[in-house]
Amino acid sequence: MKENKAMQKLPPYLFARIEQKIAEAKEKGIDIINLGIGDPDQPTPRHIIDRMATSIYDTSNHQYPTSVGLLEFRQAVADWYKKRFGVNLDPKSEVVSLLGSKEGIAHISSAYLDQGDVNLVPDPGYPVYGIGTLLAGGEQYIMPLKEENGFLPVLEDIPSVIAQKAKIMFINYPNNPTGAVAGLDFFEKVVEFAKSYDILVCHDAPYTEVAFDGIKPVSFLQIEGAKDVGIEFHSLSKTYNMTGWRLGWAAGNKAAIEVLGRFKSNIDSGVFQAIQYAGIEALNGPQDSIEKMQALYEERRDACARGLARLGWQVKPPQASFYFWVPVPRGFTSASFAELVLEKAGVIITPGNGYGQYGEGYFRIALTVDKSRIDEAFDRLEKALGKVEL
Ligand SMILES: *Cc1c(COP(=O)(O)O)cnc(C)c1O
Repeated sequence: MKENKAMQKLPPYLFARIEQKIAEAKEKGIDIINLGIGDPDQPTPRHIIDRMATSIYDTSNHQYPTSVGLLEFRQAVADWYKKRFGVNLDPKSEVVSLLGSKEGIAHISSAYLDQGDVNLVPDPGYPVYGIGTLLAGGEQYIMPLKEENGFLPVLEDIPSVIAQKAKIMFINYPNNPTGAVAGLDFFEKVVEFAKSYDILVCHDAPYTEVAFDGIKPVSFLQIEGAKDVGIEFHSLSKTYNMTGWRLGWAAGNKAAIEVLGRFKSNIDSGVFQAIQYAGIEALNGPQDSIEKMQALYEERRDACARGLARLGWQVKPPQASFYFWVPVPRGFTSASFAELVLEKAGVIITPGNGYGQYGEGYFRIALTVDKSRIDEAFDRLEKALGKVEL
């Protein structure tokens, strides 16, 4: 009984060593400050929980849902896109519900790839793009995201023989882990590129509402012709602190939405309807929780920027997402620096190489703990490291 080659090919779980160290530190009673968690620490807004509570007593919600989602939920998604981005979507044919966007991102490759097909995958990046590709029997062509390019892939650098073979291009803005934001000009280029090479664009956009300094990240679907070539994955997880609820969607290209829906109808039976009603409440209900969420992260972001500056880092604070992407000091790798910081200061940061080879030399800080803990983390780091040399 042996797992298949795709499973064997999956990259080793890079955080295993760190998790071991956390367990050891906890056993010794050391107070750990975890700046590694990509999961909002605040609760889901109360009105959404209330809608869930009433929906759960409605026995008609206890049966199998449809895998594409309640029309009312897809309508709420369409209305939200119209309101937020000015994008028109047909809820019946251009929206499909997902058990969290991760599910759809992982499955889209299985619906589109034949053995040996190629996907264009950003690096550093959310690991699911590449893993979904490998599990589908495909291969990834890495698009490096470099600081000098604003952490955007350089499309001209993709060899045309690769582009001709490629089935899917994954992109993600606002970006995890770099915090980069893309503008309409970049998405325009992507649409043009995808058209000329017949590539399905999968834009992963869970952080459009996690933005600061008054900026409003755009949707890929705002570009004319985007729906001809792509879909956008989105989710309630980060916008409404709903990571545990597992509710997301894909929207855009009709054919791709139909394919993904048909694929899913063969392996899952959709999202618990009570959760979909909570999602409808989130999208249609009062939106003041978003401003509060933004203000909270912004305050933490500024505390983190001050802490980094105190230690000698001059990094540009992110304008969206809840991540800082920071170069490690001279003489360290991502892993060795993360280990040092844990050992000497009891602070957990995420080593950048966990997001791909181009993440080496960086680490990620998540703004998902109280400001007071961020301040404390930097006090400890200052004591342990002094000024860093970059
Ligand atoms: C959090 C996150 C997701 C998805 O989350 P779901 O909870 O599955 O909707 C997708 N992409 C990126 C880059 C993320 O950080």
